[in-house]
Amino acid sequence: MFDKSGQLFAEAINYMPGGVNSPVRAFKAVGMDPIFIKKAQGAKLYDVDDNEYIDFIGSFGPLILGHSHPDVINTITDVAQDGTSYGAPNIYELELAKLICEAIPSIEKVRMVNSGTEATMSAIRLARAYTGRNKIVKFAGCYHGHADSFLIKAGSGLLTAGIPASPGVPANHAEHTLIAEFNDLSSVEKLFKEQRAEIAAVIVEPVAANMGLVLPELEFLQGLRKITELTGALLIFDEVITGFRLKYGGFQNICGVSPDLTTLGKIIGGGLPVGAYGGSREIMNLIAPEGEVYQAGTLSGNPLAMAAGITTLKLLQDPDIYDRLEVLTYLLTNRLKNVFEEKDLYYEINTLGSMFTIFFTEQTVTSYNDVMTSDTAKYAAFYQELFKNGVYFPPAQFETCFVSGAHELADIDKTVNAVQKALEKIL
Ligand SMILES: *Cc1c(COP(=O)(O)O)cnc(C)c1O
Repeated sequence: MFDKSGQLFAEAINYMPGGVNSPVRAFKAVGMDPIFIKKAQGAKLYDVDDNEYIDFIGSFGPLILGHSHPDVINTITDVAQDGTSYGAPNIYELELAKLICEAIPSIEKVRMVNSGTEATMSAIRLARAYTGRNKIVKFAGCYHGHADSFLIKAGSGLLTAGIPASPGVPANHAEHTLIAEFNDLSSVEKLFKEQRAEIAAVIVEPVAANMGLVLPELEFLQGLRKITELTGALLIFDEVITGFRLKYGGFQNICGVSPDLTTLGKIIGGGLPVGAYGGSREIMNLIAPEGEVYQAGTLSGNPLAMAAGITTLKLLQDPDIYDRLEVLTYLLTNRLKNVFEEKDLYYEINTLGSMFTIFFTEQTVTSYNDVMTSDTAKYAAFYQELFKNGVYFPPAQFETCFVSGAHELADIDKTVNAVQKALEKIL
């Protein structure tokens, strides 16, 4: 069933660390080898052995419209006729920047980069320059890309691999990163009581989606705004996943809490490599060449990525799309809850908009500590069976499933059946 993928992987591990270019793709957490994808269309992935999967990853977040949306593909092929990179300004950068600033009021100016990692890394450099302070507060289980400052108690692949902090991050660098608990304001207050004069910024995923999906309490986000305002630290919302995922704009448009800086990525590149960070004119004007905070990029504002992002955002301006995504996701998660209950399993399913995670734990999941009660061995067993039945969830418990605009009711039916079968096998 996986002959060709198996051969390719055996070869790949000789040439690339772990045979992959991003750790979670290696399927280690679910005790499998990765498959090689040949083609992706709509809600489906096809591997080199011609197996078909209903995809709930969407490239880990970007593909809210599904794979190979014809408008996005046409845009990319059209724009490529005029070249792929100029090393000079292009009209697409301006258009995407305008769309972002119009959609997210806290962003008056924006800088395009090539990945979410670059966006968060640059945002904290800017926060440090603006405040003249060095320390940042991040939350256990939140993931902000792989820059040194963030590889401490981080989510996503680090959480999956059980890595508390990466080797290679100098201790005198790591000491500038303070860790608090998501949804626990008192843990933040404590840090500010001790070190308020040194804290440049609090960075948070306003909806935590890299330890599985953990929803914020509104008072938590409001509290972060209050504490940072009182102490002169900046509040950074890392909306690399949530930007344009839950509505047109960021989660900040929903929760009404306005950060000083926002980082974006994933959806705004329409499936091409992208990132962005933005905020008020006053703060963003510190960035070179207007100011002295240096940050640059050979391929930043790349015309193909910008144009793919523009087409994606324009399609997302359709007011029906987010409603449809939410209804489909509700139908799926609600039916999954019933399937689990029929088997006497009261697993937690956290869901918001088009995002959801099934936590293999029987307690409610509102914090990092709750997340860590999940039975990852059970998840792995479940995952392997689900996969055999043609449903592609993220290959780790601590990731979020994404429903796309290309999913249909038939996909929901098939997924529910596959989950039913998988549970029968593992119980
Ligand atoms: C994916 C992600 C990043 C990193 O983005 P890359 O493009 O993978 O570098 C940063 N923050 C959050 C919240 C993310 O989900």
